[in-house]
Amino acid sequence: MRLCDFRNEPYADFSKPENAEPMRAALAAVRAEFGKEYDLRIGDAHHRTGDLLKSINPSQPGEVVGLHHKATPELANQAIAVADAYFPVWAAVPAADRIASLRKASAILRRRKLEFDAWLVYEAGKSWAEAEADVSEAIDFCDYYALLAERLASPESLVQLPGEHDEMRYLPLGVGIVIPPWNFPLAILVGMTTAALVTGNTVVVKPSSDTPTIAAKFAEVLDEAGFPPHSFTLMVGSGAEVGDLLITHPRTRFISFTGSREVGLRINELAAKTAPGQIWIKRVIAEMGGKDGIIVDEEADLDDAVQGVLWSAYGYQGQKCSACSRAIVSEKLYDSFLEKLVAKVKDIKVGPSDDPAYYMGPVINERSMKSILDYAEVGRQEGRVLTGGERLPGDGYFVAPTVIADIDVKSRIFQEEIFGPVLGVTKARDFDHALELANATDYGLTGAVYTNNPEKIAKAKEQFFVGNLYINRKCTGAMVGAHPFGGFNMSGTDSKAGGPDYLLWFVQAKSIAQKM
Ligand code: NAD
Repeated sequence: MRLCDFRNEPYADFSKPENAEPMRAALAAVRAEFGKEYDLRIGDAHHRTGDLLKSINPSQPGEVVGLHHKATPELANQAIAVADAYFPVWAAVPAADRIASLRKASAILRRRKLEFDAWLVYEAGKSWAEAEADVSEAIDFCDYYALLAERLASPESLVQLPGEHDEMRYLPLGVGIVIPPWNFPLAILVGMTTAALVTGNTVVVKPSSDTPTIAAKFAEVLDEAGFPPHSFTLMVGSGAEVGDLLITHPRTRFISFTGSREVGLRINELAAKTAPGQIWIKRVIAEMGGKDGIIVDEEADLDDAVQGVLWSAYGYQGQKCSACSRAIVSEKLYDSFLEKLVAKVKDIKVGPSDDPAYYMGPVINERSMKSILDYAEVGRQEGRVLTGGERLPGDGYFVAPTVIADIDVKSRIFQEEIFGPVLGVTKARDFDHALELANATDYGLTGAVYTNNPEKIAKAKEQFFVGNLYINRKCTGAMVGAHPFGGFNMSGTDSKAGGPDYLLWFVQAKSIAQKM
């Protein structure tokens, strides 16, 4: 199949009773599994350390979703030793077999889709629709990377010099450490893990402490799909206790990280130090934060732009690296934009994520809620809070969708990633000024421009410095195969997940010339 013929997994429409009913049943079934204990498996051995990580439902923090036996440093060392010893075996498995396992994993995920949706609703606080998008993306990653792995296994012919046979082969790297965030706890974990495995690497996956149960469920999928137990370890544990150890271990060959700038930079620094006995430069793939802006030009369709900003800023409570946290609006429509936007934001319903009546659910945890509310305070100093800025009633971590107007380019609200439902709005004199403002952060992940002027569109394509640019549409919702994803500057290494070159991050190329 050609890559451009790849088709994304369709989303279920939950407004239809025939989809909503099974989803309710899946939620009930998942609920019945709340509080289960999950062992730590390394190779064939199951460990119960007794030191349990409790994952909770952010809509109802009294509810324990899963209990996970945490790794000790000794067990982390063991996991690397197992992965290291098994690497030559797994690397020698024919690519076609690894690809077949990945396609099986995709089929299992598709079969268990609603169940995974339900875990995401309860452990990550996703609405039904957001959960469905996360699981669909995970399926897409499996299918797309299976396709890419086929291409890598039979690369295009090289120039053939007279009297020689010239070829290039792609070899796996070795032991990889996969560290995903909690906000796409399935899709990103699945993408990074399967890219590493299908190319013949062995992995230790350390999920976020907020979403270990979803990770454990995916480990079941890998098992069932035929990935040998020694090829991957799912290691729940604290970043400080086992994270550093995994990263600095001399047998670690690469680290595939997605998360905050702070942690990503630290990992990059730690990985750059050569440990005694280490014989390679560790490769670091680090996809990090964003401070994504949408430009609303005076020649835009205002209603479209308001809707696009609304979806981009408040979908999944603004907890997407691609979320719009800055609206940069032409002074000619600034007041009418704010008026329309605020009216719509006030209509957003916030409540428990298992109830589809709510567009927004809780933020992920208490620390995050406090940090977002602190930013709302900062916003009161730096601008005008037009709506939101407070916690909402209920046991869960519910934060009101917030709009802060008149934000200056130098302010914290403009510069710092808040990672919650908080939008700063800034006035631009003209389109050039808007572009200048849009580029005036350390990040460069996503951005969007609303305008009907083709010259301005052309200029944005040239000058808006982001990894993922969208024109006249929202800046979230990247689709595998169509929108390879990754950012510039402090947003990371721009690895372009879901793009045609992604697997190259997980292999090294060997050029072979044979005299004939
Ligand atoms: P985080 O950086 O706090 O954590 C990410 C992962 O790193 C988690 O699994 C965490 O347990 C782990 N970790 C923390 N300290 C560690 C250490 N010392 N050693 C090893 N691992 C450690 O980020 P988060 O809160 O989980 O996720 C939100 C962030 O992720 C936001 O900044 C968001 O923009 C970013 N993000 C980026 C992308 C992207 O593609 N660029 C996608 C999703 C999220």
